[in-house]
Amino acid sequence: MQIKRHKTRKVKINDLEIGGDAPICVESMTNTDPHDVSATIKQINELASAGCELVRIALPDLKAAEYVKDIKKETDVPLMADIHFDYRIALAAIEYGIDSLRLNPGNIREPEYVKKVVDAVKEKNMTVRIGVNSGSINRKKYPHPTPEALVDSAFEHIKIFEQENFFNIIVSLKSTDVLTTIRAYEIFSKKSDYPLHIGITEAGTQFSGAIKSSVGIGVLLYEGLGDTLRVSLSGNPVTEVTTGYKILQALGLREHGVEVIACPTCGRAEIDVEKIALDIENSTSNINKHIKIAVMGCIVNGPGEAMDADVGVACSKNEAIIFKKGKIIKKITHNQIKDELINAIVS
Ligand code: SF4
Repeated sequence: MQIKRHKTRKVKINDLEIGGDAPICVESMTNTDPHDVSATIKQINELASAGCELVRIALPDLKAAEYVKDIKKETDVPLMADIHFDYRIALAAIEYGIDSLRLNPGNIREPEYVKKVVDAVKEKNMTVRIGVNSGSINRKKYPHPTPEALVDSAFEHIKIFEQENFFNIIVSLKSTDVLTTIRAYEIFSKKSDYPLHIGITEAGTQFSGAIKSSVGIGVLLYEGLGDTLRVSLSGNPVTEVTTGYKILQALGLREHGVEVIACPTCGRAEIDVEKIALDIENSTSNINKHIKIAVMGCIVNGPGEAMDADVGVACSKNEAIIFKKGKIIKKITHNQIKDELINAIVS
C-alpha cells in the first residue's frame, strides 16, 4: 500500500527541493547559543551527519545574524533563519548568506516591514516559510487559536507576499494541540497548493514529545499532507532527526539507515532482547544503508515472526541463530551476535 501525497508546488532552498514529487524533507533546529559560533557549527554538522536536510537557527539579534557568515563557511547543509520580531535581523541574515527564512506573522506585523523582507528575498530568489502558530493569531478577531484562525492568519500573511509577486513559500500551521493542528492543515490544503512544513509545536520531552509528534505528523502524512517535517523535542536535536525518519519509515514514505525491530519478549524469551537491540541500534546508527534487522527472544518462534526482516538473530539460553528472511543460516554463540549482524549489514 502506498500513501497518495497531496499535490503541492515545488520550491527550492539551494539544491534542496521541497514539495511536488520531492522526498519529504527532515528538518531540525539548533539549540546552542547562537552567539557561540563553534558550538552552533558543531551541532549543525552533527544534525547533517544524522541526515538532517535543512537546519533552522534562531537569530535573536543583529549580532547573531552577522555570525551566519562564519557558520556558512563550515557547513553545506541549507540553513533557515528563524526571525524574531525585528525585520532588520532578516535583512542582515540575507546579507550574510542565510539560505532561507522562517517568518512568524505574529512577530513582524507591519506590512511595510514585511514588504522590505519580501523585496530582499525576491532579489535572491529565496524561499520563505510562513510559520503560523497560536501566537501568530490576531486575538481581537479570534479569541481562541482555532484551526480556522491559524489558516486565516497564514492567508493574511501570504497575501502580502503574493501582492509582491512572491510565491516561493512554505507554510506551517502548528499548535501544541494535535487535533487543532491536523484540522488546520486539512483546511489549508483544500484551499492552497503551497508546500507544507508539518509538526506539533512544543511537543515535549523525548518520550512524550515523540509520541505526540508521531500521532500528529503520522496522521497528516497518512492523509498525504506534509512536504517537510520537524519533530519538536526538548534535548539533543539529533533525536528529532532520527524520530522524523522513523515516522516516515513506518509509513513507507522514506527509507533511511538500518531499521532494528525487536520482539516485545514474553515468557519464552531466553536473553535480554532490549539490551541486544539497543546495542545494535547504537552500533549501526551511522550506516546509511536501508536494511531491516530483527532481534528475537526465542528460536522457536523468532525466525517465523520476523519473516520480513532482511537478517535477524534469535536466541536460546546457550546459543543463537542467524536467519535471513525467516530462513536459518547458521548457529553462533551469544558473543558473536553483534559482529555477525554488522557483517550481514555491510556485506
Ligand atoms: Fe516471545 Fe519468542 Fe515471540 Fe519473542 S520471538 S515474543 S520470545 S515467542
